[in-house]
Amino acid sequence: MDIPKLYELYKTHYLVTTDTRAISQNSLFFALKGENFNGNNFAEKALALGARFAIIDEETYQTDERMILVTDVLQTLQKLANYHRKQLQLPIIGLTGSNGKTTSKELIHGVLQQKFKTVATKGNLNNHIGVPLTLLSMTPDTELGIVEMGANHQQEIAFLSSICEPDFGYITNFGKAHLEGFGGVEGVIKGKSELYDFIRANHKMVFVNPADPIQMTKTSDISRVLFDLERIQYVGVNPFIQLSLDGQNIQTQLMGNYNFPNIAAAITMGLHFGVPTDAISKAIEGYVPQNNRSQIVKTAHNTLFLDAYNANPSSMKVALENFAALSATHKTVILGDMFELGEDSAHEHQAIADLAASLHFETIFLVGKNFHGVSTSHLSFEDFESLKIHLSKHPFQNKTILIKGSRGMRLERLVELL
Ligand code: ATP
Ligand code: MG
Repeated sequence: MDIPKLYELYKTHYLVTTDTRAISQNSLFFALKGENFNGNNFAEKALALGARFAIIDEETYQTDERMILVTDVLQTLQKLANYHRKQLQLPIIGLTGSNGKTTSKELIHGVLQQKFKTVATKGNLNNHIGVPLTLLSMTPDTELGIVEMGANHQQEIAFLSSICEPDFGYITNFGKAHLEGFGGVEGVIKGKSELYDFIRANHKMVFVNPADPIQMTKTSDISRVLFDLERIQYVGVNPFIQLSLDGQNIQTQLMGNYNFPNIAAAITMGLHFGVPTDAISKAIEGYVPQNNRSQIVKTAHNTLFLDAYNANPSSMKVALENFAALSATHKTVILGDMFELGEDSAHEHQAIADLAASLHFETIFLVGKNFHGVSTSHLSFEDFESLKIHLSKHPFQNKTILIKGSRGMRLERLVELL
């Protein structure tokens, strides 16, 4: 079946599902394949649960006239999403970067929904499946779309941009993340800049932080809206970041001065699209980060700065420096391994251990195989179990503790031990 024909089926309800555990009635079910499953297996079930049609790519599963056989389900989903995007008459903001994409996306969404019917990426669904699904969740009443695009190798952002066709682009930063797949920091810059390449080639526009020299250089030949840092000013962290807009104070619920550009991006887009300043402030003040991203947790014994969602050398560095600058007593840090660093791994773990040592915390614990290999005077633990045993023998009391590590380290498990 060709895409325009499939589009007619999609357009009756504008609903797509890929998971039989969450079937929407009358949706099109796309039988995607994963590492451990074959969606074709679930097509029959999807129809039984109320999907209107099932898109499959293996003929042996075709047992019902509501099954539509295509060559490749994933490609069909991506093509349908781009076909839909072309029909939608609305501005789409595409964003990528090494750190702070989801936080920025949620802040931007919060601000722009004060004035528009917006659709934004749900959670962190920012890949070759998530981007199409985000687009397909937009309907003719949607007025503005915000699409997070993630990548860990070259050409991925170029591909996602070609599906999403953003009118506006924003790159949060270039950092030391996914170094392995991108081929070092230069590779990260090249890979993330594919968004700028798309914007440039299509004569669209970008939002840029004028305080970020590398983003300024990379966008010098693109039409751009700069953050107005006269109107948007950083005030301080206490531990939540405080800023001002046109002289009016904004008290956020986000910790870490590194969140300033994320917030400034959302304010800039709000101003650009004509959201009133008091509505912008309200949206920023109301945003509470989720999923172990920069959250403060008070346990019976300690105060935790829980930033266990992810980590890479850039976000570790800013988190440590921010934590060091806070006024708190008995500051302790527990750092977990950073993954996907390839040949830079040993060197980057050493650099973070050295940085932590230079910042004069009361106690520093390192956990994981990579950190265990560095030369350091800090206590290091080869794995989570050994840290757990240590903590059960020597529990912490009345400490302020920064917790940060890669997703795979799952350091949020520390909450119940502290
Ligand atoms: P992912 O690659 O998983 O999609 P992301 O880019 O969406 O990550 P967020 O989920 O917004 O990033 O934030 C993850 C963590 O990154 C935060 O908890 C914080 O430690 C760090 N971080 C957020 N913003 C910045 C920033 N502007 N600069 C450096 N680090 C940041
Ligand atoms: Mg994200």
